[in-house]
Amino acid sequence: MVEGISIRQDTAGEEISINLFKKYELGKLLGCGAFAKVYHGRDLRTGQSVAIKAISKQRVMRKNLMAQIKREISIMHKLDNTHIVHLLEVLATKTKIYFVMEFAKGGELFTKVANGRFSEDLSRKYFQQLISAVRYCHSRGVYHRDLKPENLLLDDNWELKITDFGLSAVTDQIQPDGLLHTLCGTPAYVAPEILAKHGYDGAKIDVWSCGVILFVLNAGYLPFNDTNLMAMYRKIYKGDFRCPKWTSPELKRFLSRILDPNPSTRITVDEILLDPWFQKGNKQIKPPVVTETSEFKEPREEARFLNAFDLISYSSGTVLSGLFSGIGDPVSSEMFVSAETPERIILRISELADEEGMCVVKNGMVLKLQGKNNGCCELTVGVNRLTAELVVVDITRGGFEGDIWNERLKPRLSDLVHQSEEHISGE
Ligand code: AMP
Repeated sequence: MVEGISIRQDTAGEEISINLFKKYELGKLLGCGAFAKVYHGRDLRTGQSVAIKAISKQRVMRKNLMAQIKREISIMHKLDNTHIVHLLEVLATKTKIYFVMEFAKGGELFTKVANGRFSEDLSRKYFQQLISAVRYCHSRGVYHRDLKPENLLLDDNWELKITDFGLSAVTDQIQPDGLLHTLCGTPAYVAPEILAKHGYDGAKIDVWSCGVILFVLNAGYLPFNDTNLMAMYRKIYKGDFRCPKWTSPELKRFLSRILDPNPSTRITVDEILLDPWFQKGNKQIKPPVVTETSEFKEPREEARFLNAFDLISYSSGTVLSGLFSGIGDPVSSEMFVSAETPERIILRISELADEEGMCVVKNGMVLKLQGKNNGCCELTVGVNRLTAELVVVDITRGGFEGDIWNERLKPRLSDLVHQSEEHISGE
């Protein structure tokens, strides 16, 4: 049974579409990432196209990737820039986590380059957009760390959109020496200091990868390549690359400043902005400054996303809805999802506690219930909004004499627990 998913069939019984939480229709497979599949989707309310990234919860749990996925969510949700794929929503079923993202209709920039190298002007246009987004991320302490053409998508206006923040690191992961230490990235795009494994500066390795991308856009092939991986690493280490003959002297000089194997002398993002090759032809191309609309905005409903995700990880493979957990400890926490309004939930629990002769103290959306023998029976109830329709009820209990909670209160609250309507067989 798959909660939240239904498959629609036509009159002949043929499968025609997969429906996710009655909100999105899942369409064709767009691509596969390291541990996820990305599908085209359609928002059933607006008809708008979206990209839906499906990740198997089991794989995530097995590989201990939950922290990485959580990081991807909070990073993507924090970023609001025209050149970065926007995360719209996170949904979960019993077995899968779904990231609903802005759809980049133009597909991968990589396939366009594979069909033929770009002119210097077109290379510059995409490089400017790339640097604009990278600069925006760096100013917020976010480093992509896996920039490559496959992660660069195009929208319907052929404007650049960066995706796949699965390997990003935020500044709070930086070690006391100020350097990042995880070995990551894709071989051909990896900066020499990552290979040296002595720690690195996230901003500098992104600049290196941008240099490799610029080279590929202009040349149509990789600057450092070899069938032997060690030989390729040696070339990266020495910054040993040769530009094709059609490259202008200005671009050659610019590339040598970016693909400088020494991170301390490598050009910085701010210096890139001042480079004559980079600045050329800015009339048609928007300057790579952080514009009004791309300024950092506090996510409108961040708590909602984080709560939803925390709940997925707490539930460790259980269904999202109808969840009661953590029974048995002297002090423990339980939670469930409800479709009732917070006000009605608080009122209901207060009435029941009152009937049990408990003392009820209400403070906003938090209830504190105390038993007759002061101090030995305590229950704190918090209600937080999860989505427009659902709330999470969080209950912390401690020091119960007898088991008023398990025997008297909890069974009478079962009608508040949200049950999903859609169940089909399959997974
Ligand atoms: P990822 O797991 O993010 O590396 O995505 C794998 C592939 O799915 C990408 O290389 C794209 O071809 C496709 N894809 C990912 N995100 C989107 C999106 N927002 N819009 C369109 N296609 C996408």
